[in-house]
Amino acid sequence: SFPPEAVPQAPEDPLFGLMRACKADTSPDKVDLGIGAYRDDNAKPWVLPVVKKADEILRNDPDLNHEYLPIAGLASFTRKAAELLLGTSAPTISEKRVASVQTISGTGAVHLGALFLARFYKIHGANRTVYLSNPTWANHNQIFTNVGLPIATYPYFHKETRGLDIEGMKRALADAPEHSIILLHACAHNPTGVDPTTDQWREIASVMAAKKHFPFFDCAYQGFASGDLDRDAGAIRFFVEQGFELLIAQSFAKNFGLYGERAGCFHFVAAPSPETAGTTTRVASQLAILQRSEISNPPIYGARIASTVLNDKALFAEWQENLRTMSGRIIAMRQALKAKFDELGTPGTWNHITDQIGMFSFTGLSEAQVVKLRDESHVYMTKNGRISMAGLNTRNVDYFARAVDKVVR
Ligand code: PMP
Repeated sequence: SFPPEAVPQAPEDPLFGLMRACKADTSPDKVDLGIGAYRDDNAKPWVLPVVKKADEILRNDPDLNHEYLPIAGLASFTRKAAELLLGTSAPTISEKRVASVQTISGTGAVHLGALFLARFYKIHGANRTVYLSNPTWANHNQIFTNVGLPIATYPYFHKETRGLDIEGMKRALADAPEHSIILLHACAHNPTGVDPTTDQWREIASVMAAKKHFPFFDCAYQGFASGDLDRDAGAIRFFVEQGFELLIAQSFAKNFGLYGERAGCFHFVAAPSPETAGTTTRVASQLAILQRSEISNPPIYGARIASTVLNDKALFAEWQENLRTMSGRIIAMRQALKAKFDELGTPGTWNHITDQIGMFSFTGLSEAQVVKLRDESHVYMTKNGRISMAGLNTRNVDYFARAVDKVVR
């Protein structure tokens, strides 16, 4: 059998441990700000109305079966997924510069990209280090480590301003060896909620171009962040326009509310060059082999739902409306929370609550304060002070603000 020296006990995933503790708390005051999943104003999961419609269309289709998808997934889904990121009339698509593979949601896409890099990013000498923002989505660390790629970090969050440490970030990118792999959050940075401005993206791209770095975009919140699909893809499109070759991991968990269905996509976008078509075809052929050995073919139902919506004009418009509902409610909660802090005269500055974007806010609360909030007020958040904005609603936002006010005084 396997002795502890060979298989030591691993710690529980901190986020899922937090969820368990929260579930066990029976207080009626309980506020769950842990997991990054959308909740409606009644603190309940929300099935998007457009997803319900697509589901019904699929269920009423007498020809629907449960056959395997091709290795690269549902083509009607992956094609639209690429268009969603790059733009419907993107030259990258018309010039066949994109290789897309359907994956097990965003996690699977990050993993497939990591695996591809581990296997094939051997072209520029030794530097295979993946640079991650500090902090980043915790899973990035293990995904890249698991495939044997070394990881390093670049400064991202500025503790004093609770905004972007653009100077620190640029310095680190400039200091990294040429051809380093740089992981970037396309929008709604997790866990900080801090995104570069358009000008800052330009600066980042310019440093990265000078150092010939290789961008890997993780896009888990398109449309969910601002409510505008094009705006949330702005950074990716800008990098593509600048001629970067790059990778994109795309998740449909948040923007379709398809968390458990695991609908996602991985894209390789070739730089414009005479060998573009050849590169894309070769990359696609290797991605297919990697995919085959890992999952054979991706799960079908979430992709079918997304494809139904993405390929129908009326449903697509309705989806955009649903996206505005979710992002709008979150933005409204940011404003309500900030207003309550102002009203209470809570010590400290709280502008970052409304400056930050997307599912999360990095409150700046210390670990001790987080623990106190849990013990005294039944408020659950990760120990780095991150809150899921979607856990706030019109009934608990005042309670939460008062609880925070109490621990920071
Ligand atoms: N990347 C980031 C930055 C995320 O926040 C998430 C969701 N927590 C993901 C990837 C992937 O999530 P999923 O696998 O559920 O699509």
